[in-house]
Amino acid sequence: MVKKMFIDGEWLEGSKDKILDIINPATGKVFEQVYESSIEDTKKAIAAAKKSFYVTREWRDMDSQSRSMVLLKIAEKIDENADELAMLDTLDNGKPLREAEGDISDAAHCFRYYAGLIKAPYGGVYDVNSGFGKMRSYAVHEPIGVCAQITPWNFPMLMSVWKLAPALAAGNSVVFKPSPKAPLSTIRLFEIFEECGMPKGVCNLLQGDAEVGTEMSLSPDVDMIAFTGSTKVGQLLMKNASVNVKKIGLELGGKSPNIIFADADIDGAVEWAMIGIFFNAGQVCSAGSRIIIEKSIHDTFVEKLKRKAEAMTIGNPVNNYDIGPVIGEKDMEKILGYIQSGIEEGATLVCGGKRYTEGECADGFFICPTIFDNCTADMKIVREEIFGPVVTVQTFETVEEAIDMANDTVYGLAGAVFTSDLAKGHNVIAELRAGITWMNCYNPTFNEAPWGGYKMSGIGRELGVRGLEEYQEVKQININLTPGVLGWYENE
Ligand code: NAD
Repeated sequence: MVKKMFIDGEWLEGSKDKILDIINPATGKVFEQVYESSIEDTKKAIAAAKKSFYVTREWRDMDSQSRSMVLLKIAEKIDENADELAMLDTLDNGKPLREAEGDISDAAHCFRYYAGLIKAPYGGVYDVNSGFGKMRSYAVHEPIGVCAQITPWNFPMLMSVWKLAPALAAGNSVVFKPSPKAPLSTIRLFEIFEECGMPKGVCNLLQGDAEVGTEMSLSPDVDMIAFTGSTKVGQLLMKNASVNVKKIGLELGGKSPNIIFADADIDGAVEWAMIGIFFNAGQVCSAGSRIIIEKSIHDTFVEKLKRKAEAMTIGNPVNNYDIGPVIGEKDMEKILGYIQSGIEEGATLVCGGKRYTEGECADGFFICPTIFDNCTADMKIVREEIFGPVVTVQTFETVEEAIDMANDTVYGLAGAVFTSDLAKGHNVIAELRAGITWMNCYNPTFNEAPWGGYKMSGIGRELGVRGLEEYQEVKQININLTPGVLGWYENE
């Protein structure tokens, strides 16, 4: 049965009469279908969210204890349905099941985190000198209103929850659009919202691509646009948001450096570098796609990395191979195009570099883990986000050289340093122009800590306290503690 959209508390087929095919990237076959939303459906969803926020106000006015209880119930239901949700992410995204299981568990904890945080003290009280007598100034946080949220396909459930949990915790109403490439776990999540008694009109789910997203970002009835995806689309949305000066949150692309010093634990660094680039087949915004390695250990490191990459098992992600397919045929072609450009620009192909079509992978979109050595800063494979299982290797001799290479990018999402000298590690991290950094590890992510990018990797932060504040307005309230006549105009 074709999956429906969720508008104003009802599951609807929508008005467009167009159906999106959902493809399993491991087989290349359509296995599910979803109704695509029209502009009219989008307007209807925005109107429902607006009414629920400004007129019925049930969710917005609910006390934080009750709102927190609903969020806890959602977390519990996510855990109860974890196997189904993980399988949905594996089927439409192609990630190995064990990776999807981790995402679902994190998603449940994200709801628990914000269920707790919404009850924490917030705002502030300021002791001020007004020049008008004794005053007290304080600040409160309020929900923003109607939040439009748009997500990519690479962590379908998790990217949805990173946006929905804080927005709902803060008391907002939302209009949500997942990527048309992997919408299934989000549809199931909205069923869970309904089962948990979320008031009508507070959570609305649309399906589609640029047309729907453009309408969401242009609508004057949307108070905030929160987007995770490519920098190119983020730039468009920034322009659209200016129409009514919407609040905006952007989580965009990256080309993150992974700096490895000669004094690092080499075997540990090799393993983390693998996780840095081959987790989710390299389709991770924070992927450590540029290995920057100290010259004296270059040969040993690359040899060890090559051996491990060549030993990775490739296959249907349902069966938990090390690496699954990339999301789609066009995406695969794009990644293979980058590989070709690396070869043409003179990088040394160490391993991989081709599509994988053995056995059950014949019709899927699999790419062998790929390492390019002897890369230089001007190469396309070093400068652009490939978003696939492809890593470049550059070498350095001094700390300054490593820092310069690391920061030589328009992006600023993430970066890591491997060293046994903690002072050196801290000093290098202090120089990285990136929002998420690691020392002696790569990729662990926490609901409690702020996530987001410098430079062209984005604006704002998700997760942590900052992630909740993104979905709140701050109101300053000033109280005159000596009411009565001031005597300012004495000329009567
Ligand atoms: P994308 O930009 O193509 O699409 C993202 C979302 O935007 C999708 O839902 C898509 O339907 C929608 N969209 C596309 N065109 C639009 C338009 N003109 N107006 C409004 N919406 C539009 O990105 P993608 O391929 O889905 O995801 C990969 C990108 O996401 C990579 O660049 C990756 O680095 C980035 N990403 C960033 C983070 C982060 O936290 N910084 C996390 C995950 C992914």
